[in-house]
Amino acid sequence: MTDKFDCIIIGAGPSGISCAYKLAKAGLSVIVFERGEYPGSKNVSGGVLYSTVLNKLIPEFWKDAPVERHVAKRRYSILSKDSEMAVEFCFDKFNEPPYNNSFTVLRSKFDQWFAKKAEDAGAFVLTETVVDDFIWKGDKVIGVKARREGGDVYADVVVCAEGANSLLAEKAGLKKKSTDHQMISAAKEVISLPREVIEDRFNLSGDEGVVMEFFGDAVQGMIGSGFIYTNKDSLSVGIGCPISVMRENNMRPNDLLDAFKSHPIVKKFLRGGKTEELSAKMIPEPGYKNLPKFAANGLLIVGDSAGFVNPSLYREGSNMAMASGIMAAEAILEAKESRDFSEAGLAGYAKRLNDSFVMKDLKRYGDAPEKVSAMPQLFKEYPDAILEMAKGYFTVSDLSKEEMQQLAKNNFKDKISVWKFLWDMYKAKGTIL
Ligand SMILES: Cc1cc2nc3c(=O)[nH]c(=O)nc-3n(C[C@H](O)[C@H](O)[C@H](O)COP(=O)(O)OP(=O)(O)OC[C@H]3O[C@@H](n4cnc5c(N)ncnc54)[C@H](O)[C@@H]3O)c2cc1C
Repeated sequence: MTDKFDCIIIGAGPSGISCAYKLAKAGLSVIVFERGEYPGSKNVSGGVLYSTVLNKLIPEFWKDAPVERHVAKRRYSILSKDSEMAVEFCFDKFNEPPYNNSFTVLRSKFDQWFAKKAEDAGAFVLTETVVDDFIWKGDKVIGVKARREGGDVYADVVVCAEGANSLLAEKAGLKKKSTDHQMISAAKEVISLPREVIEDRFNLSGDEGVVMEFFGDAVQGMIGSGFIYTNKDSLSVGIGCPISVMRENNMRPNDLLDAFKSHPIVKKFLRGGKTEELSAKMIPEPGYKNLPKFAANGLLIVGDSAGFVNPSLYREGSNMAMASGIMAAEAILEAKESRDFSEAGLAGYAKRLNDSFVMKDLKRYGDAPEKVSAMPQLFKEYPDAILEMAKGYFTVSDLSKEEMQQLAKNNFKDKISVWKFLWDMYKAKGTIL
């Protein structure tokens, strides 16, 4: 193995691999270090892959990639202890290519496929190798220290794509350590069920899939949510809440996931399923104001390491990770032409980010975590009051309909100030909406 490359990438997730693919296609020598046994092994279970970016990089990738189902339906619901109110949206056009650019995937399969694409393009992906540190020459990064024999490897530029727990980016001074408030702790499981059962139970045909998000009692009324995504013959089931909120409520992610799975509404979706995998992971939500520096001399930071996750209902991380990886690659190609890998020479990266949906969306939802933490009523008080009102409205009794409806309204108004509710709904724009 040569010890000098054009580019070193730390991490074989969607951000690192998209960067590697683009650079390798352009003829640069690229090495990707991945600490897992194989790409995706540290990202065991599933999620929704938003694929506008991937479809440009590898057109019609879904014909070849191990995607599970295209997302034909979206369902959002609020739960109380014993009831649910849900809205579901489906649109037949989402069943046609490019399938609304949303697919459920199992990361262990998808990441391996994507990494193989980068290898086929000429990148070198080295697994089971942890990068422990950068190698510096003065104030410039010139390589990395990989945990293996002869592990000092050099490059013109290093891309830090190490994900949410970005110890190296912190070490390099590109970002501050995240607070408990800025990190979502998530627990997720893959639960197997026969394909026919999934299609019957979720009213799906063929490769259609559904994404279901649950609020309110899904996470014991705390800020956060639960989810069920349908795969071909399994479900991805999980919860996520800010670490600070879990700590305040003395909850652990796995206990919260167990409680979600045994909620009377949720357990009906899961019945008969067998847990195949369980994992816990972090999702960064630093907020726009706390985004790190994107570049230093000889160094760029992409994807979750940089905090590029949209925290709203769109819950978009993989698309932003890929977009940032590709923009980093484009900036590196520019820097190579001018033979300037200094922070100034790599400035094309920040410029591209600022002009793209990544920074526009992060700006719009930038203070969502702060705003939402000032409105805990969105997650407990309001869902409970709305569901109590619905119970009153729909419970059949001897009362006249007018009396029933009045009682239901009074029940709501006793618990909630209607004006405050409407004002909070207005303020929720730019947070979860
Ligand atoms: C529960 C959960 C659900 C999610 N759902 C969705 C969803 O539905 N849709 C969506 O778009 N996004 C979702 N996300 C977010 C999405 O997973 C991330 O935004 C995306 O994976 C970021 O990609 P990345 O390449 O930046 O980082 P990662 O995918 O985290 O990849 C980083 C890689 O770097 C490796 N690594 C780390 N440190 C080192 C080191 N020192 N040396 C070598 N290798 C290292 C890791 O092993 C890992 O493979 C979800 C996240 C979680 C936790």
